[in-house]
Amino acid sequence: MHIHPHFIAGRWIETDNYSINTSPSDATDIVGYYARAQTVHVEEAIAAAAAAKRTWGATSPVQRAGVMHDIAQAIRLRTDELARVLSREEGKTLREAVGEVGRAAATFEYFGSALLQTQGQLYGSARDHVSIHTRLRPVGVVAVITPWNFPVAVPAWKIAPALAYGNSVVFKPAEMVSGSAWLLADIISRAGLPTGAFNLVMGRGSVVGGVIAGHPEIQAITFTGSTQVGKQLLNDTHQRSNARVQTEMGGKNGVIVLGDADLDIAIDSVVDSAFASTGQRCTATSRIIVTRDIAAEFTERLAKRVEQLVVGHALDERSQIGPVAHEEQLRSDLAYIELGSSEGAELICGGERLDLETPGLFLQPALFAGGSSSMRLNQEEIFGPVACVIESEDLDEAIAVLNDTPYGLSAGIMTSSLASSEEFQRRVEAGMISVNASPAISEPHVPFGGVKDSGHGPREQGMAAQHFFTEQTTHFVRSH
Ligand code: ADP
Repeated sequence: MHIHPHFIAGRWIETDNYSINTSPSDATDIVGYYARAQTVHVEEAIAAAAAAKRTWGATSPVQRAGVMHDIAQAIRLRTDELARVLSREEGKTLREAVGEVGRAAATFEYFGSALLQTQGQLYGSARDHVSIHTRLRPVGVVAVITPWNFPVAVPAWKIAPALAYGNSVVFKPAEMVSGSAWLLADIISRAGLPTGAFNLVMGRGSVVGGVIAGHPEIQAITFTGSTQVGKQLLNDTHQRSNARVQTEMGGKNGVIVLGDADLDIAIDSVVDSAFASTGQRCTATSRIIVTRDIAAEFTERLAKRVEQLVVGHALDERSQIGPVAHEEQLRSDLAYIELGSSEGAELICGGERLDLETPGLFLQPALFAGGSSSMRLNQEEIFGPVACVIESEDLDEAIAVLNDTPYGLSAGIMTSSLASSEEFQRRVEAGMISVNASPAISEPHVPFGGVKDSGHGPREQGMAAQHFFTEQTTHFVRSH
């Protein structure tokens, strides 16, 4: 039995409680045994991070930049190993997993380079002989809580800026992707950080989260996951402490397709944004809002493409769509598919569980048409390979439908009209906005985040990350 301990205060810490991770592509494939934290482990990790924060925070940005680049290089060298574990335990195809690992490396590289840019600003003063400058300080101890759908890239989005700006980290990954988290921690543990500057505690969110929320030694929490848990974490933390909290939460993302769109581009883009990663991206498109003039042609052509998507074992290179990540998610996807039909939407293709060679959680992507905005199918986040075409009269109505949800993460439009594109970009309620491109994208050097129920606190990535992971101080210095 290959066990994987926590990493606390510079040491690998075994416990007597482990979870077994199996592959959603094949229930007989055991990925590994991963330590499950009790309260005491979380307390120890927080104490270690608190003890390390002065040492690490006092290093120069240039020194930290070197560490970031070393981590990036180690991630790139171990891409195959990381991608295979990621693909086995989360179920995304190996090609997608390799891409995700590359993005994680690029994120560490970006924050290494960001440290070589200006770390403060110089101002003049109204007072004689006084100059004013600003500096950046680390916030202190940062708790990083991550979901299962991007087990390497999302931790990198958070851990890289947290460490780069001199904070110490307690990392709590989603339990079902502990394997990817453990490998990332193994890489970071070899990067020459001071003891305790980086810690990994694995296990149940309810146990670990209870210790983290409101803990007096934690100055910041960065969370990605469901809106329900994110809101609870915000509440629990703010009732008990002044820690800053950043939450990236759910989405019910839409794409508008207008009559003047290039339908080849529109269909490619929707197939990618709705069904890649098995639809399990917080930015995934689940509502396709199409004007009536092209609805019939667009829907028919889209359905043909969706029907042809090859679902299979994540490690099989013929697979375009891997399995659903876990049993409960599959049950929920199937329940939403049934609900959609009972609400009166027409299931035009897919939606059935597939029996393949291995005992896995395979679901043929489902496309609905004839849906209306008020249906639960089109209001609630499904987080699976399920999308619905909704017809609208014109751009005005399409924008109203797109905004008719509590969420506001990503949104897109397909059109050849500059005027329609501009109007959409001004009126859409979303944080990530795309025109004639898949809205399920992000890059490490630009801000990422949502509005409404999709997010709270400063954006992630790019220069925006500096706001969350540093304190700015303002210095008035009189020379004589
Ligand atoms: P997902 O199902 O997308 O992973 P969740 O919101 O259920 O989304 O979980 C996201 C992360 O939050 C996971 O690491 C999970 O273990 C953790 N978590 C779950 N419950 C809590 C909680 N009460 N406090 C803090 N973190 C939690």
